Amino acid sequence: MKMIVDQDLCIECGQCIDLCPEVFDWNDDGKAQSQASEIDSDNEACAMEAAENCPTDAILEA
Ligand code: SF4
Repeated sequence: MKMIVDQDLCIECGQCIDLCPEVFDWNDDGKAQSQASEIDSDNEACAMEAAENCPTDAILEA
């Protein structure tokens, strides 16, 4: 399972990073991005929760 953050949609609210910090982090542009090339099973639930709670639907399963 992989997730990507659409950089044009991210409004930098930080919710995904709060919900799933092992997967999402800030990049140098101040936007969220997925740190994991492949999300391990321990983090799948929080990554899905982050995607569901992103206010702009910027997190997409890749
Ligand atoms: S929850 Fe969505 S809008 Fe907020 S920082 Fe994460 S990707 Fe960006």
